[in-house]
Amino acid sequence: MTVRENTISIIGAGISGIICALTLAKSNECKKKTIRVYEHKNRVGGRAHAIKVNDHYVDLGAGRFSSGLHHNVKEQVKLLNLAYEKFPFTQLKRPQALHKSLKSILKNLKPLCDEHAHDSFEEFLTIYVGRNQAREMINALGYDSLSLPNITPHIAFDIIEKHPEIQGFSDNAGYEWFNLKEGFSALPERLYEQALAHGVEFYFGHELIEIEADSSTPSLKLLNDNQQEVVIDEGEMILTFPPTAMKKLNCGFPQDWSNYTYGSIPLFKGFLFYDTPWWQEMDLADHVVIANNPIRKLYFKDNRYVFFYTDSDYANFWRDATLKGEAHYLKTVKELMADALKCHVSQLPDPITHTYKHWVHGVEFSQESSPNHPKTLEHKKSHIISTSDAYTPHCGWMEGGIIAGTNAAKTVLERVRQRQVLNQKDYELAHV
Ligand SMILES: Cc1cc2nc3c(=O)[nH]c(=O)nc-3n(C[C@H](O)[C@H](O)[C@H](O)COP(=O)(O)OP(=O)(O)OC[C@H]3O[C@@H](n4cnc5c(N)ncnc54)[C@H](O)[C@@H]3O)c2cc1C
Repeated sequence: MTVRENTISIIGAGISGIICALTLAKSNECKKKTIRVYEHKNRVGGRAHAIKVNDHYVDLGAGRFSSGLHHNVKEQVKLLNLAYEKFPFTQLKRPQALHKSLKSILKNLKPLCDEHAHDSFEEFLTIYVGRNQAREMINALGYDSLSLPNITPHIAFDIIEKHPEIQGFSDNAGYEWFNLKEGFSALPERLYEQALAHGVEFYFGHELIEIEADSSTPSLKLLNDNQQEVVIDEGEMILTFPPTAMKKLNCGFPQDWSNYTYGSIPLFKGFLFYDTPWWQEMDLADHVVIANNPIRKLYFKDNRYVFFYTDSDYANFWRDATLKGEAHYLKTVKELMADALKCHVSQLPDPITHTYKHWVHGVEFSQESSPNHPKTLEHKKSHIISTSDAYTPHCGWMEGGIIAGTNAAKTVLERVRQRQVLNQKDYELAHV
């Protein structure tokens, strides 16, 4: 395959890669250009990935958006005419003792954040409420990333205000959340269909394995599923995968691309399907329970299924549980679910089927978490573009993926326009 100057090569067919391709394909500036997207996997969507189990769609990755926070996602859902429904998990059931006073404690502490801009949230809480209650508060909030050393009080309050299960402990209690009836794969899949209709070419099973960025003649080397090499050494090159994947490519990331540093946390979701919705009798349908044990957040999806969702150390706890075998995993789930619901393990039935997914790098972010992070990164010599939700204020959200893809497309369009102006000037000079 030959790649010409008029070709734009995008690596990654997650939401950001497809949005980037589609934005370029729809632009006047790129009408005569060939736009190619190369994707390692044999599907689009990246971390927005749903599967069908027991006749129900389940989101192994991204699972909800807020109409108040995620305007670009909302707009795409409307434009693509995707069926959505309320994601109801904004009401806690079986509250822990601390849940009753948590909102007022947090409200009193929030004005003190500025004085502790560089402390961790856990240190900040410890100063005011003591170590034990600080730990209890983080437990009661259900997101263990809140105890990471780089999570400052400002970031922590942002997390609390922008997650459906715990927004009720902030003044953001009113945000409405939604999920797609067919799961969030539907969003990148429809965008993919649109991109195809606009002439974008997709190459699945193509892994980028080498970047020659430190040169004025940059190139990308990919290996496809048939072990054939594809070399891209002309045209615009846009990498639309997150920082951990950049680091693996030995391309001087981040130091040759960015003044920022990047981190990630693991996530784990487990789904359980039963022959009867036993939780309805417990009045748990469409409610979430925050557990003071490794199950952390336990959701009861109307009469369809039960799932739990954990991050950081507890995501790895569950990965390790699965590695010890299915029987061990399911026994652990049942015991901890019973503990979370304060019932005896014999009261809970066994699931008829189940599925789970551990994401090694579920959420990626810039450690400095600055609003001034450049919209896209460019290698200092070769100007290969890197974009990711991790570079946006909406890191860890599809909203960030859409913004990242749009930002990369804008960078390319600006370059194309500048080149057109230069070509016009050259032409005029030659014809004086
Ligand atoms: C468990 C979980 C829950 C989440 N929950 C939510 C939620 O509720 N709401 C929400 O809005 N967001 C959520 N997110 C985040 C959301 O999924 C992401 O922010 C978004 O999908 C990022 O899209 P992206 O295109 O930027 O990156 P990605 O989806 O990571 O896409 C990158 C693509 O690049 C490909 N790629 C990587 N390396 C290479 C290579 N070397 N060669 C070729 N291709 C490569 C990958 O295969 C992938 O397809 C969640 C994520 C996870 C994991």
